[in-house]
Amino acid sequence: MLGVLALAVLLVLAVDRFYGHSTIAFAAAIIMLIVANAPMLRYNCPRCGKNAFFRGPFVVPWPNRSCARCGLDLDTVLPSQKR
Ligand SMILES: [Zn+2]
Repeated sequence: MLGVLALAVLLVLAVDRFYGHSTIAFAAAIIMLIVANAPMLRYNCPRCGKNAFFRGPFVVPWPNRSCARCGLDLDTVLPSQKR
């Protein structure tokens, strides 16, 4: 996720350098971010359905180890990310 964000920023900077200010580059970066975020939306708690990336009002770039709502251990039910 953070790598994709850096990639998107680099893409914007690169296009900015070659073509001047471009909203297309920004649009492409935003689309990339949405595509990169799509798998995150499937990381839901199997018991209560709460997304594992939401920690209260905050969105974290890594899934919670346990569900913030019902306390289910998500490490055992979700494919754990290598960190
Ligand atoms: Zn839960």
